[in-house]
Amino acid sequence: MRTILVVEDEPQIAGIVRDYLEHAGFAVITAADGGAALALARARRPDALVLDLGLPRVDGLDVIRSIRRDSRVPILILSARGDEVDRVTGLELGADDYIVKPFSPRELVARVRAVLRRGETAPMSDERIVAGDLELDVVRRRVKAGGRAIALTPTEFELLATLAREPGRVWTRAQLLDAVHGFSLETYERAIDGHIRNLRKKLEPDDAAPRYVRTVHGVGYALAEPDA
Ligand code: CA
Repeated sequence: MRTILVVEDEPQIAGIVRDYLEHAGFAVITAADGGAALALARARRPDALVLDLGLPRVDGLDVIRSIRRDSRVPILILSARGDEVDRVTGLELGADDYIVKPFSPRELVARVRAVLRRGETAPMSDERIVAGDLELDVVRRRVKAGGRAIALTPTEFELLATLAREPGRVWTRAQLLDAVHGFSLETYERAIDGHIRNLRKKLEPDDAAPRYVRTVHGVGYALAEPDA
């Protein structure tokens, strides 16, 4: 059974989220503040986090920052309507998706399943993608750029795999959102910019002059075509 860590300081919301996730077949552990969340994340190694951003003491953004230092566990943000800046910051820090309060508990369960699927190794075949000196092992979710191993979050990996399957193809932000989330309901195209920025930081030898992921102004992004 997979374990979800729910971090939420409002007991009522935490209870609803717990009930729905348990009903969907997950084991649920809860934390009511950021410090407890970090301790539980380390001790129990959950399969995914549902994380409220507005927490007492250590806030949600600090929790993401701290977890992303050494873990790629999927993170789904819970945020209040109007907290757009925090939400986008959360995605930039490496969260995988978000849902806005008040939310439908069923949609939340669907989102948790979606972030877990993205982190899973369940491809149809032993797919390997090679584009220039980029090598992606889709089964093991490993990436090498010029022989250098790079650790990516599930969303960053999906994004790079999508781009690398068709070097040179220009993708709009909306198409990339669809490709990595399966649906783009209520998600911001700007979130893609955040994921691309994180991906470049890890991938590009010089992220001020990207050689892998090109920006196509006014449209979106493309993987640079390998030199012939
Ligand atoms: Ca809160």
